[in-house]
Formats: sequence, C-alpha cells, structure tokens
Amino acid sequence: MQYNNEHKIAILGAGFTGLTTAYYLNKFNKDINISIFESKEIGGQVQTEIYEDCIIEKGPETFQMRIPLLNTLCEELDIKDKMIIAKKDAAKRYILKEGQLIKVPMSLLSFLTSSILPFTNKVKIAFALKKKFSLWPGMSFYDATKNIFGEPFAQYPASAVARGVYGTEAEDLEFSSAFQDVYISIQETDSLMKAIKKMVSEKKNFWVSQLGANSYKNFQKGMYSFEGGLKTIIEKIRENLKNKNIKIENAKIQRITCKKNEYYVHTKHSKFGPFNEIISTVSPSELSEIIKELDKKISVRLNEMKYSPMTVVVHAWDKKNFYYPGFGFLAPRKEKTSMMGTLFSSNIFSHKAPEHLFLTKTMVAGDSEIFSDEEVSAMQVEGLKRLFKIEKPPIWTKIYRYKQGMPKYFLGYHEWKESIISMLNEFKGIHLTGWHFSGMGLSDALSSSYQFALKYSEKQK
Ligand SMILES: Cc1cc2nc3c(=O)[nH]c(=O)nc-3n(C[C@H](O)[C@H](O)[C@H](O)COP(=O)(O)OP(=O)(O)OC[C@H]3O[C@@H](n4cnc5c(N)ncnc54)[C@H](O)[C@@H]3O)c2cc1C
Repeated sequence: MQYNNEHKIAILGAGFTGLTTAYYLNKFNKDINISIFESKEIGGQVQTEIYEDCIIEKGPETFQMRIPLLNTLCEELDIKDKMIIAKKDAAKRYILKEGQLIKVPMSLLSFLTSSILPFTNKVKIAFALKKKFSLWPGMSFYDATKNIFGEPFAQYPASAVARGVYGTEAEDLEFSSAFQDVYISIQETDSLMKAIKKMVSEKKNFWVSQLGANSYKNFQKGMYSFEGGLKTIIEKIRENLKNKNIKIENAKIQRITCKKNEYYVHTKHSKFGPFNEIISTVSPSELSEIIKELDKKISVRLNEMKYSPMTVVVHAWDKKNFYYPGFGFLAPRKEKTSMMGTLFSSNIFSHKAPEHLFLTKTMVAGDSEIFSDEEVSAMQVEGLKRLFKIEKPPIWTKIYRYKQGMPKYFLGYHEWKESIISMLNEFKGIHLTGWHFSGMGLSDALSSSYQFALKYSEKQK
C-alpha cells in the first residue's frame, strides 16, 4: 500500500529516538504525515551545556559505534566533518579493586598478566569459550556471568559494566533483556565462541545489506562525539525535519483518546489528530498517565517499570593539581561506593575543555535527594581525593540530578514488556520504542529507529 498524506503518525517525545524515528520514517516513506510532541527540550537526555569554555554533556557522553550507521546518517545530514572519534590514548580503562585502579586488559596477552582476575578464573574463561551454556530468560547478569566465567568475573568486570552502562547492580539486571542478541545467539549455538561469531557476522551482514559494503570501508569502530558536543547532531536532525515540514509541537501530552480506530493527542490547550499510528518514546510511567483514559489495565502495568535514579557530578580540575591518563574507571558493587564510575571527559575528547583543565564526570547511584548539591559534590571530591591522592579542590563543579533515572531492565522485565505488547494488540497502531524498550544506549536508539522505520514501511507495501 502506498501512503498518501492522509496517513498520519504521532511520535511522542523528541529525544534521540523520537527524532531519528521521524527521520527514517520520512526517508523510507516520503508521503506519510508525521507530527512530533515534546514537553521539554528537544534531544531528551542528550543535553550539551557550554560552561567556562568547556563542553559538558549532562547526559550521554559518547556514541559507541560498532556499525557505520552513525557515519551514514552524518553523511546524509552533511555533518560528517563535525564528527570526532575518541582519542586512541584514552582507550585505557580501569576498574576499582580493593581501593586501587586496575587497568582493564585490552588484549589476550595483557589479560593473562592482569591482576583483575585470579589465575584459575582466567583458565575457566579460556575453557568457557568452547562450552555450551544453558541460560534462562529471568536470569540476572550476575548469575549468567558467574555461570559462564566464574564468580570473580561476575563480581568485578560484570558488576562494573552493569553499574557503568546500565546504572544498576548486576544482580538486578536481566541478562536476556540487557544483552538480548548475545542471549539469543547463545541459545542457538553449541559454544560461546560460535555464539559470538554468529552474532557479529549476522549483524554485519544485515548492515552491509542496508548501507552497502562501501559503508564499512572507511569506518572506524569507536566512540564518537561532535564539534560543539552531541547537541550538534540533535540540532541538525531537527533542522532536517523542519525542512521536510515535520513539525515538533512543544507541549506536554496529557492523554490519548481513540475514536473509530483513530487516535487523538491531547495537550493542555489543544487536541491533535486524527492519527493512524502512535509511536511512543516516553517513559512507561509517563505513558501510564497518557494512556489511562484509553485502558486502565495497561496503565497500571506500565507503572510497574523500575528505574535507577542517579546524579551526575562534573568537576573541572587544574591539571597541575589532578590529572590521570585514560578513559576513566568503573566501580563494582563489591567496592561499596555510591560512585558507579568516573569518565575522564577531556581525555576522551580533547575539545571538551581548555588545555589546562582536566574534566571528570562521575555517576553517583541514587537520587541523593537528602543531600544538597554542595554535600554531593564534597562527597565525590573526597572519594576522588582519596583514590588519586589529590590535595587541592576542583576549580568548579556542576551537578545534574536524574530523579527518575535510567530504565532498569529488572528481573522479570522481558515478561513485563511482552505482557504490555500483547495487551496493546487490542489497539492497532500503538508502538513502543525508546531506551525503556529498545536498548540502553544511543547506538541502540539509532539502529532501532532505523529498523522500526524499515519494518514499518515493508509491512505497508
Ligand atoms: C546520565 C546519563 C548518561 C548516559 N550516557 C550514555 C552514553 O555515554 N552513551 C550512550 O550511548 N547512552 C548514554 N545514556 C543513554 C542515552 O541518553 C539514551 O539511550 C537516549 O538518550 C534515550 O533517548 P530516547 O529518545 O529513547 O529517550 P529520551 O531522551 O528520554 O526522550 C524521551 C522524550 O520524551 C519527552 N516526553 C516525556 N513525556 C512527555 C509528554 N507527556 N509529552 C511530550 N513529551 C514527553 C521527554 O521530555 C524526552 O525528551 C546516558 C543516559 C544518562 C541519563
């Protein structure tokens, strides 16, 4: 079926998912009519602030790209020359172990000599690659990695990844939901090594089929940002959408109603619609309110989602007083610190701060609401001072609180998500995406927006 301008889609939320979904829907189906609704700032979690000549990312710091999709998008948006890849010498990463920073091994040889794991555990890992593992859907990341690589692995590298990337504890993170591709691949193959190879080659084949083999030619895997910070790509997508007459309504959606299989979006002062499709990128708790009038049961179920509140503390240090090379460090649960990890932002991308400054960004677990900004800062400064033997305080501090926090792919998340999708079957045309449903990082958002738009347009043909 070819669309005409009568086919209307409403996208709830203009974060990175909402914007890129609109972009790819338009790219694959020129004729559909798209409206986007955003209650706050365009970009959602992606917010760049310029302060004292520094580029501060309040939310995400980098795009971790293993496929050339971001490069292709930037070519299309004409901002390829603004992309910046992380400096090679920032690759050194550390894990906190017994109060000391241990370098994360980046090669097999350095892994054998690293003190991050005991020798017996290293042997177990080598054997694990050839073994078949049986995992189950509700298993935690901690138990899955303990089962495959042994307990020290679960306690240190796995716990550090869960805290640093997912903002939660490995014990509370559902393996099959956080690492869906790996989980499926392990189920389908007879050894871990084959599972990894299968996953990598399937992913590559898919993206070569979509973007062409040439897209891989000059592509460098790694972490990316932009001249001017991540807001550069947000602004460019927004401009691109504007040129295509895709409007972003700056208003909070209060509810959705349905009449004869068509939907209406209500804000405080207006009613928009009718729409044939609703694509929600907002959090489940927000959608729970929006959908209440449409279906109470779905609204209640959506409210069962869990979140990991967190606080981001940015410090600028005079390099004469504190400097440390590398990417930053992660702190596993066993270290008993509220610090999930610290990024050395100005090492990863040197354009983030003037030459004499060292910019650190620390993620702190919990919303720390009972503490004032000064207290939160003082606690984190104290932690860093002890670890790095720093004598002088930072020049300035910025604090950003994420009260609701990051989506938690809790134990039972998969079942919860499936039950909501199945309940929504009753309402044809409502789709759920965004980081609460389609993966945690910006690269997940980008590839899921592309794949959603692709599937959507193929379904309509
Ligand atoms: C502190 C922090 C650090 C991170 N670091 C990284 C990183 O380094 N790398 C990485 O890849 N990822 C990182 N992430 C994750 C990344 O930010 C997310 O994957 C991504 O930004 C999610 O985008 P989204 O569009 O799905 O959701 P959001 O950005 O949350 O967008 C949803 C939008 O919906 C809007 N909305 C909500 N309710 C309504 C309503 N009623 N009416 C209208 N609009 C509404 C919101 O205002 C918001 O703009 C980090 C996240 C945080 C919080």
